[in-house]
Amino acid sequence: MSEERTEIGSLGEFGLIDFLTRDIDTKNVSTLLGIGDDAAIVETFGKQTVVSTDMLVEGVHFDLMYMPLKHLGYKAVVVNLSDIYAMNATPTAITVSIAISNRFSVEALDEIYAGIKLACERYQVDIIGGDTTSSLKGLILSITALGEVDERKFVTRSGAQPNDLLCVTGNLGAAYMGLLLLEREKKVFLENQQVTPSFDNQTYVLQRFMKPEAQRRAIEWMQEHQLMPTSMIDISDGLSSEILHLCKQSETGCVLYEEKIPIHDETTENARKFNIAPTTAALNGGEDYELLFTISPTDFEKIKEEEWLSVIGYMTSPEEGKKLITQGDKRIDITAQGWNHYTL
Ligand code: ADP
Ligand code: MG
Repeated sequence: MSEERTEIGSLGEFGLIDFLTRDIDTKNVSTLLGIGDDAAIVETFGKQTVVSTDMLVEGVHFDLMYMPLKHLGYKAVVVNLSDIYAMNATPTAITVSIAISNRFSVEALDEIYAGIKLACERYQVDIIGGDTTSSLKGLILSITALGEVDERKFVTRSGAQPNDLLCVTGNLGAAYMGLLLLEREKKVFLENQQVTPSFDNQTYVLQRFMKPEAQRRAIEWMQEHQLMPTSMIDISDGLSSEILHLCKQSETGCVLYEEKIPIHDETTENARKFNIAPTTAALNGGEDYELLFTISPTDFEKIKEEEWLSVIGYMTSPEEGKKLITQGDKRIDITAQGWNHYTL
């Protein structure tokens, strides 16, 4: 960030909006009218529209001690796009609403917007509006994302059937390890400001927390291969909680195999250092933004060669409950948090 500090008051609300949105143009044909009027106009050309919104509150959802402003802007967009992809839709536009106190300078807000714009560039999404208001102290960032999907091609949480295969993209638990590292270094720093953080060889887990990506490639791949999941959800709160959502809304049970849960080596190494079972990080840690979905067993052929996809279990009838089969072959109930006493 530059050294300058321009007070928000010197620009005024409209000046600030003009400044932050100065270089925003639109790229999607669906965006008929963007920033600058009382409302934006989108044209969906016969497709269905998907809408999702998320609010991030300073001190609750992010900590500016270790979250750079640009990363915060980037992540705020990505978590919303992740929700759109989880519907099997393609995000096209966002609105950005911010509440700010005079603790933040114009330059600081511009850093947040640099991250927001970078994410929009990368995911080909238009910024079509927002709102700017003041807060007494903290920063609040609320983003609403719009997406489009061909008629009846959206995928909900409720379509899983017994025997469907339970699949996940990428790997799990890394972002949580990144968070634990940052929290540990923050504590060390607060106790002794001479100490500089030590993050050697932990770039993967840190990046997974600080700069997550949404699963655009996965959705594009599914569309290319005509793979239509029966149910889908993005993993924001940890695998176990998301599995329970699918089971509840689909009225099924499930069997999940611990040994099949994909975990990155760096996650395993860090989990061991923190004395946590790597599986616990995957099950109960959050913010991975991978996709969890079910497919019909007849679609197994389509995915079996894909290394970035893991089949981690299958759905059952509801009476069979929601079970984790451990590496030691024990059968444990999956609960949202409840089994983190369990260690390997
Ligand atoms: P109104 O008073 O009609 O709500 P505003 O003055 O709040 O209008 O906003 C003017 C235009 O700027 C609108 O198009 C609005 O969507 C957009 N806008 C306002 N704040 C932001 C922001 N933080 N980021 C992006 N666009 C914004
Ligand atoms: Mg307004």
